[in-house]
Amino acid sequence: MTNKYMYFIANWKMYGGIKTLDSLNKVISFSKTHTKNKIKIIYCPPFTLISSLSQKVKNTSIEVGAQNCHESQKYASLTGQINSSMLKQVGAKFVILGHSENRQTGDKNKLINKKIKSSLKAGLKVILCIGESLREKSKNKTKKILKNQINNCLSGIKKSSKIIIAYEPVWAIGTGLIPKLDNLKKNILFIKNILKNKSVKVLYGGSVNIQNIKDLKKIDPIDGFLIGGDSRDSKKFIDIIKKTYI
Ligand code: PEP
Repeated sequence: MTNKYMYFIANWKMYGGIKTLDSLNKVISFSKTHTKNKIKIIYCPPFTLISSLSQKVKNTSIEVGAQNCHESQKYASLTGQINSSMLKQVGAKFVILGHSENRQTGDKNKLINKKIKSSLKAGLKVILCIGESLREKSKNKTKKILKNQINNCLSGIKKSSKIIIAYEPVWAIGTGLIPKLDNLKKNILFIKNILKNKSVKVLYGGSVNIQNIKDLKKIDPIDGFLIGGDSRDSKKFIDIIKKTYI
């Protein structure tokens, strides 16, 4: 059992339409009656739902984030792109950056660093995803990769109090696999050790579900969870939160 203040971040990825927002009613009532100031729930829906979701959770403790942004802070002739100030205007307070699905389509550490800087300037808090691939893990390169990602993504960034780290091993995302608990604990501690600001929160993400939360919650240094698949089902999402505290 934990008594810690924990983050529960829902990453909806490319799922959800206006009607999907009705499913949040359960989470809103849960957050009003059960959370006792112990938890922070953040929803990161697709861009198209940020504005409506922000309206829906107005006057609740739930906050809203985006899943990525362009690095330019100014308006620009960039078809199909959205920048951090535009996200702020429609109600986002957070932005996920460096997710492995975006790293796979070209987001490198240097670009992520630019995105973090522009997001902080726009007044957003950043959820920075880091994690090793299966190949890197099998070559015992996890620590090197994590150190490299942290140092390069956070290079020159002073407002580290506005950063949350999500450790998401790439091989654990959407696969049903999670790291061995002792390895996970070591990696979370390793990340905390590298960070200059020791108060930065470090979350775990990758196939978190109602079953494995019973084990994951025992890992003391984890400050919360980034949840993909099971965050789209409000009942499962609430159950994961409840089970963290039982
Ligand atoms: C994610 O993509 O950030 C994630 C954690 O996904 P899942 O929970 O589905 O593995």
